[in-house]
Amino acid sequence: MIQCRGVQKYYGDYHALRGIDLTIHEAEFFSLLGPSGCGKTTLLRTIAGFEDISSGVVLIDGKDMAGVPANARPTNMVFQSYAIFPHLTVADNVAFGLRRDPRSRAEKAAAVDEALGMVGLKGYGARAAHALSGGQRQRVALARALILKPKVLLLDEPLSALDRKMREQMQVELIKLQRQVGITFVLVTHDQEEALVMSDRIAVMFEGNIAQLATAEELYTRPASRRVADFIGVMNFMPARILGETATGVTVEAPGFGQVEIPAANVSHADPGDPAPSIGFRPEAVTLLAATAPATDRVTEGIIDEVVYYGDMSYYDVILDSPDTFGGQPHEIRISMRNVFGRELPDLGTRVRVGWSPGSLILFR
Ligand code: ATP
Repeated sequence: MIQCRGVQKYYGDYHALRGIDLTIHEAEFFSLLGPSGCGKTTLLRTIAGFEDISSGVVLIDGKDMAGVPANARPTNMVFQSYAIFPHLTVADNVAFGLRRDPRSRAEKAAAVDEALGMVGLKGYGARAAHALSGGQRQRVALARALILKPKVLLLDEPLSALDRKMREQMQVELIKLQRQVGITFVLVTHDQEEALVMSDRIAVMFEGNIAQLATAEELYTRPASRRVADFIGVMNFMPARILGETATGVTVEAPGFGQVEIPAANVSHADPGDPAPSIGFRPEAVTLLAATAPATDRVTEGIIDEVVYYGDMSYYDVILDSPDTFGGQPHEIRISMRNVFGRELPDLGTRVRVGWSPGSLILFR
């Protein structure tokens, strides 16, 4: 549905997009994710036609968009700021998009009702827009965009003004809405969790480049680089030393982990400037064991330094015993465990064992 080929964008001397290549499929929920200033909004605006590109090609539905103004593209945009008219009714706000539509008044009213129904605002048409909650305003903005039946809906941080509870609710509603209407959604967000929850595929952007384009699960379990791994969720990093390499994997030594063969599928890249090599693992990829658990070659020891309680789960920061071969420095790792309802959490300073498996470790080199 959307193809970007070598898309570059300069603002004066500033190189905001540095050669973007991507394909977004029909009916896909696609997210552009990255830290502030990485160029994700610029990329969305070039797709929308609000920005000219400096070089490259943008195709939408197979047509080259060069010289095609925003209002002639099969796209519609929903903004963070909602941009709804507070002095109009809900129905008039939604109908605004149809002002040049030749259909009869009754047909337009039916289209407005249909669009309001899609976003869960059936029966709200006569209400004053200024009297709506943030979540309801965002739904009105969505209905106004959908009533034009675009092939692509572009969403620029649409949920960032909502409180956490409402944001989570709207995330689920947006997923359902996208499935129901079956059109391509392209979402811009700096919120990793939001992108993971909502998207079929995600492009992670840093400094005007795509660092990785993958499904949520691939990004989380097979990050293409240490930087992507660090940006998505929580990742522990430990210094490592490479001892040898075979077709099946790379043997490394890391403090507390001894010698371990990392499977070839778990070998990823370090970026220039990263402390390389290192091993990484997610907080849930290792297990907290009692100090009395059997000591095996896949168990390491340490002391609980911090417990962070989240109700359903807790984070445990554990300082691992470190052998002198790594300078004897303490290495702290973060472990997550589900809480057992009613069971007391271990105290700070408790000696514990940490269980792990080679398949849950990633080597960045
Ligand atoms: P944010 O989440 O903060 O909006 P972003 O990833 O969406 O960040 P963009 O808005 O695409 O980032 O901006 C990318 C870079 O281009 C930033 O450094 C920004 O300052 C710069 N930039 C954006 N628009 C313009 C403009 N009209 N003129 C000059 N520089 C711009």
